[in-house]
Amino acid sequence: MKEKLRKLEQVSRQLEPDVIQRKNYSDRVNRYAEHFLQNQQKMPAYQETEEQGAGLYNHPFQEDGEALDKLLKQVEEQVDTPGVNTTSGRHLGYIPGGGLFPGALGDYLAAVTNRYAGIYFASPGAVRMENQLIRWMADLIGFNPEHAGGNLTSGGSLANLIGLVTARDNTKVPIREFRKMVIYTTKHTHHCIHKSLNITGMHEAVLRHIPLDESYRMDAEALQAQIKEDKQSGLWPFIIVASAGTTNVGAVDPLSNIADIAEKHNTWLHVDAAYGGFFLMSEEGRKSIQNLHRADSVILDPHKGLFLPYGTGAVVVRDKQKLFRSQHYTADYMMEAQENNAEISPADMSPELTKHFRGMRMWLPLKLFGLKPFRAALEEKIWLARYLYRELNKIDGIETGPYPELSIIFFRYAPKNGDPEAFNKKLLKSIRNDGRIFLSATRIDEKYYIRAAVMGFRTHLDQIEVVLRVIKEKIKEIT
Ligand SMILES: *Cc1c(COP(=O)(O)O)cnc(C)c1O
Repeated sequence: MKEKLRKLEQVSRQLEPDVIQRKNYSDRVNRYAEHFLQNQQKMPAYQETEEQGAGLYNHPFQEDGEALDKLLKQVEEQVDTPGVNTTSGRHLGYIPGGGLFPGALGDYLAAVTNRYAGIYFASPGAVRMENQLIRWMADLIGFNPEHAGGNLTSGGSLANLIGLVTARDNTKVPIREFRKMVIYTTKHTHHCIHKSLNITGMHEAVLRHIPLDESYRMDAEALQAQIKEDKQSGLWPFIIVASAGTTNVGAVDPLSNIADIAEKHNTWLHVDAAYGGFFLMSEEGRKSIQNLHRADSVILDPHKGLFLPYGTGAVVVRDKQKLFRSQHYTADYMMEAQENNAEISPADMSPELTKHFRGMRMWLPLKLFGLKPFRAALEEKIWLARYLYRELNKIDGIETGPYPELSIIFFRYAPKNGDPEAFNKKLLKSIRNDGRIFLSATRIDEKYYIRAAVMGFRTHLDQIEVVLRVIKEKIKEIT
């Protein structure tokens, strides 16, 4: 048997490169990363290739390993070339993401040391690091950080799911009674809320779309009237889902009025601040987002507003006990976890047990850079959106939506004759084919619009000038 074990060991030891191999690997990976970063200025914001990544399928997994350079070449051609370059400062589609370099280094460290961030006993430091980040976000929201609790999630969708499950578990109403419960949203509520309702069985409840005002915010008076009507007909107002920055237009629902209504009717207020929440770090943002602390649960997306690499969302609940009661489970094989609870563990606050140690990729950039550059960047995004809005309005034929509340604007070109939708689709297509900038489309009030969301940490005045230049060029080309 020993002989067999020695033989197996000989091969399995290939999983542990030695110091020279490690240096070789990391040098090559670093070289690749540096090349990518130094080429940012030249790289298109959007690109299509002939293969669109399908070339990966020509290289099936095989018994023997391959050379790293060859693999990096495949990554470059098949993965890092086709599609949206989300790290580009000229990408203003959807909600642009981030990719802060120290965030990547944090991930690297977290992966090398592989601390178990799910349970306090296993890694008290990793859990405390995540709890410190939660407390910092609670403070930013305006919650009492001692009473609030939360979780770092993979993104906003999962954060919303956890927030809504907490609301559900906080009522003592069984799911079979949910036909009488009412959930209030708007047409501009993010679609992941609907997914969450479906996943949780809450789609059995009555779903209301409260009308929007002229700035695409939830109309609080209409909400009040709807709740009154629902109560009169024997229904139970249950959850109000408000947005602090809608994905579509960046509108902030009137949180103060909505919170008054929620309080009066004893209704859970969940605020989706995935896109908008971190604007609280900026002066202008604080003017737009007020009273977020009056929510019962709030979600934020550090992979948007803190420019972190994808895979970081957050949910923060005003009363941590409510979240704990919803998510805390025990098991016989988890004895140490039960006996060591000086801190709440992430596993007690989310559906995940074993998880990515997300705290490290968030903690490192915040500590290394300090908060100041984040505040400046967020303030800059708001002003850049205002500048873009102003300059777009100077272009003959451009129609814009309302003045941006945060950093999203929408517009369309009104052609002298012909169908505006067909024209703007063509315009967007030619912008995409050009590749220097990337914008996405949306439908608002049944009309097709082009959207621009300023959220990239590499988006500065120069990039906005390119955006304006390309839009003007393409309008001229196709009219
Ligand atoms: C992006 C976004 C979400 C979804 O978050 P993911 O991180 O993409 O899962 C939810 N709500 C709003 C308002 C968003 O902008």
